Amino acid sequence: MSRVYNFAAGPATMPVPVLEKAQRDMLEYGNSGMSVMEMSHRSKMYLEIYERAVADIRELMNISDDYEVLFLQGGATTQFSAIPLNLMVKGKADYLDSGNFAHLAAEEAKRYGTVNIAGSTRDSGYTAIPDLATAKFDPDADYVYICQNNTIYGTRYVELPQTAAPLVADVSSMFMSEVIDVNRYGVIYGGTQKNLGPSGLAIVIVRKDLLGHQKDICPVLMNWKLQADKGSMYNTPNTWGIYMAGLTFQWLKELGGIAAIEKINIAKAQMLYDYLDESRLFKPTADKKYRSRMNVTFVTGDAEKDAAFVKAATAAGFVNLKGHRSVGGMRASIYNAMPVEGVEKLVAFMKQFETENA
Ligand code: PMP
Repeated sequence: MSRVYNFAAGPATMPVPVLEKAQRDMLEYGNSGMSVMEMSHRSKMYLEIYERAVADIRELMNISDDYEVLFLQGGATTQFSAIPLNLMVKGKADYLDSGNFAHLAAEEAKRYGTVNIAGSTRDSGYTAIPDLATAKFDPDADYVYICQNNTIYGTRYVELPQTAAPLVADVSSMFMSEVIDVNRYGVIYGGTQKNLGPSGLAIVIVRKDLLGHQKDICPVLMNWKLQADKGSMYNTPNTWGIYMAGLTFQWLKELGGIAAIEKINIAKAQMLYDYLDESRLFKPTADKKYRSRMNVTFVTGDAEKDAAFVKAATAAGFVNLKGHRSVGGMRASIYNAMPVEGVEKLVAFMKQFETENA
């Protein structure tokens, strides 16, 4: 077996110790005689897995009792609908349009109320985050929505909007990659398939006072209050996804928590950007001020050279470096589980490619 360096944006590379633990548990978890996938979600053994996962995320992110933590199905996109259905009490929301996923979330919210695009960088190809100083927030909005790290374009908010309305943030591609102050948000949510495990699961951290105001038409599975009351088990949850996220939380705790991984993530991103800034072949595409630490986007400026690079990299064991189909070029997603050594080796490979192709 030879594992590659997988720079995919998600589903993405996972920590080897997490995969090994899952492998050891695959046929029999503890002394249960069965795998986690075969257990009743209401069994004592599974409930312990679930409760440990909740306790660990609370500890890692320093989540107070003012917030509920929900593990819901349907990935992040299901929450594009759940957010307006649960929060649009007055029927209005502000959206900052910083990329395709923010745009899709805003389009979905329009089905349920009035959406004000408070700021947008769509016209300039989403290479930057909307300017917060000139954004036009509606003082009457039920919430302000951001996508805090833009997976496709490789941008990240460096500061949060200061608004009276609760802040709702999609953190799918930066979940637990840096220390954040949960108390600054009304809702923090994201899909798990980048930093926290397999796909199909979303974690929603919601302030308790925002629960219970859902619209009558809100489907039961999207009703956050109901899911909070039922311990995220109104129906059969994604038991395997929750178990894998739980193992990832344990791995993070052993590493020293989010502050420790944040340091590593800054170093990895710095290494790649430092090289891109001095390269004569590759150019970083995101506005310098807003560079993502998780998704590093770059081009050569020549589509053929881009393709040749991706091909050569794949052959050398650096896979999934092709940029998103909507923007082209290259993207190296360097989530928590990408080892420093993977980035070091990628940079060495890029230097070599540059020497041969500049
Ligand atoms: N938001 C962001 C920032 C994403 O990167 C993605 C997926 N790449 C989504 C939302 C959609 O997630 P899902 O496929 O889990 O619905």
